[in-house]
Amino acid sequence: MRIRDVVIGANASMYYRLNFSKIRGVFYPRSEQEVLQIVLKANEQGLDITPKGGGSGLSGACTGGDRERFMISTLQMREILTISKDQRYVDVQPGATPNEINDLLEPLKMKFYVAPSSRDIATVGGLISTDGGGNDTWVNGTMRDNTIRVKMILYNGAQLVVDWDGVRSNDKSLEEKLNRAGMTIHDVASSHGTLGIITELRVRIKPLVEEELIGGVAEFDDYDSLGQAIQSLIDAKFPVRYGEAIVQAHEDVRGDLRLPLLVLEYPRDDALQEKLTAIADFRHLSKEEVEYLKDTRIKLPKRNPKEGIQVALFEGYGLHGKSLTEMSHSITEVNELLMEDGFRPFAKYGHAPSKWYLGDNSEAFGLVMHSREIRPEGRSGKEIFKTVARIVDKCLELGITPKPEHKWPFSDDVKKKRIMKLRDIIGGGFNSFILDDNAGEVLGSMV
Ligand SMILES: Cc1cc2nc3c(=O)[nH]c(=O)nc-3n(C[C@H](O)[C@H](O)[C@H](O)COP(=O)(O)OP(=O)(O)OC[C@H]3O[C@@H](n4cnc5c(N)ncnc54)[C@H](O)[C@@H]3O)c2cc1C
Repeated sequence: MRIRDVVIGANASMYYRLNFSKIRGVFYPRSEQEVLQIVLKANEQGLDITPKGGGSGLSGACTGGDRERFMISTLQMREILTISKDQRYVDVQPGATPNEINDLLEPLKMKFYVAPSSRDIATVGGLISTDGGGNDTWVNGTMRDNTIRVKMILYNGAQLVVDWDGVRSNDKSLEEKLNRAGMTIHDVASSHGTLGIITELRVRIKPLVEEELIGGVAEFDDYDSLGQAIQSLIDAKFPVRYGEAIVQAHEDVRGDLRLPLLVLEYPRDDALQEKLTAIADFRHLSKEEVEYLKDTRIKLPKRNPKEGIQVALFEGYGLHGKSLTEMSHSITEVNELLMEDGFRPFAKYGHAPSKWYLGDNSEAFGLVMHSREIRPEGRSGKEIFKTVARIVDKCLELGITPKPEHKWPFSDDVKKKRIMKLRDIIGGGFNSFILDDNAGEVLGSMV
């Protein structure tokens, strides 16, 4: 395997045109001590550092942009260090994936309940940095809800332990300043590698629940009725174990499915069934039918139409409150913008109901919807990125959260300000390009 394949090859985002000459070194440390040596070397040479896990992040942050930099891959740091069944935690290196953790926990009848679709490749270091989660976040929370503490190394080599109460460090003056600023796990969650490199995590585990699940699907006449049904599930605190809405799908993929639809799995229970029937007209599904719908949803981002190329122009909208219950308006406005810029909407689907956090750390509940479109021919990366920027503005106007799962500072001013405040105390050095004024131009040149 060539180094460039490892560093770049796993990059799932649309920002793939990297200038390799700006990458001054690629490192695969195995321990915190080795990470420290690399960080100090970067500091000595005045180079930026980009931490990289599985490369499945979609915001472009794990590419490092165009800064002269070192790339530190955590893929050789995937050891499970301690399992405490009694105290319900696992200490783990940052490069382990949820699947690897769960393989070890299964014989103990315990589970780490963070399950993004990418759980076989995404690392826990990447997951806390993007605050990822799966289509059960509604029940089990996002990565931050399942993280007890993290260890980090900063650009000057200082070591931090960050938990929900604050910060401890071998640099006492820094510790005091960060505690005065109120730094906790909330700040590390969704920081996209801009604060330091995470070298270890303590994550929460829970007993494996073995319950009988039942599947159901409801088809709706329009988007608003779908949004209102999702809001009712949220209000009723309905214990959805799997929930996906397919809102729009190109005919090459949807076959004869009637859209929009909502497919759910939930515990078999008469009282729950009654609650659900009051919300919408859900029809029972056999196991095979549930699998068929899950498979269709998985094909949506993978299948290209017979003509044109599909792109994830803007991966993830959070529809909540009015933007959810009046979803037709939200979707029409976004689609009109896309079509004005020459894109053809291809598919919209997503986790529902779902939970995520806003930039000020307040919780939001609604539908996390992915959007895919067919890209116009002959457009430059910069032109395509202009549409991304227009969608950010449109989302803000409509009360939609842009990119809720991958909330990176570019589209989240509150989070960006907070990160900059913390970087004033700890120094920069990590993924600085994201905070540059020209971040949009840089990313545009990489499409
Ligand atoms: C097919 C597919 C399905 C997906 N499904 C979901 C889903 O269901 N839910 C969801 O939330 N996401 C999903 N994603 C997005 C992606 O998997 C997540 O964003 C994930 O958290 C990225 O983890 P990673 O290890 O690949 O991180 P990377 O992509 O390598 O990095 C992501 C960010 O984390 C930073 N980082 C990584 N490791 C560290 C570290 N040790 N210290 C500090 N910073 C670090 C990087 O600098 C970068 O900013 C999906 C992606 C794909 C390709």
